[in-house]
Amino acid sequence: MSLPAQIDPYKLALQGILLEGQIAVNDLPRLSSSVMAVSGPLKASIQFELDESRQRIARGKASVCVDVVCQRCLDAVNIELKADFALQLIYSEDQIANVAANYEPWVVVDRMADLNSVIEDEVLLVLPIVNYHRAEDCTGDTFVEKVAAKGEEAVVDSPFNVLKQLKQQ
Ligand SMILES: [Zn+2]
Repeated sequence: MSLPAQIDPYKLALQGILLEGQIAVNDLPRLSSSVMAVSGPLKASIQFELDESRQRIARGKASVCVDVVCQRCLDAVNIELKADFALQLIYSEDQIANVAANYEPWVVVDRMADLNSVIEDEVLLVLPIVNYHRAEDCTGDTFVEKVAAKGEEAVVDSPFNVLKQLKQQ
């Protein structure tokens, strides 16, 4: 089941609602543009609640598998991104100072909030900058070949080379 895209998080927190479901790949545009491919829907569960000091909290987990570039062999490597988060709802950025250290602020100015976007942010935060296959799965020896191949392409495509070809004609 899909998670609702637009929610009223304050109301959900007062009611203590648990939302569980999926976000389709199409609804994760920033994640899609940050990796080679998103290989399946994102799964998430979010518990909305009031904590002991009656702050409105969204506590959840999200996971999604993505293909990223292995920096050793430059082929795709499939990794699972897992995010755990605890967000405190606030009405404006002025209140950020009041957010307890164990929460991240979630600024919701109007009543309604875009749940997909918030969860996408959390998953982007755990996306590693560099990725590798496990050593036994990596054809790291192709690294040198591929770099060489890329280098040749670069020479062919360079404007100087095109200029040189024009002069020779
Ligand atoms: Zn590799």
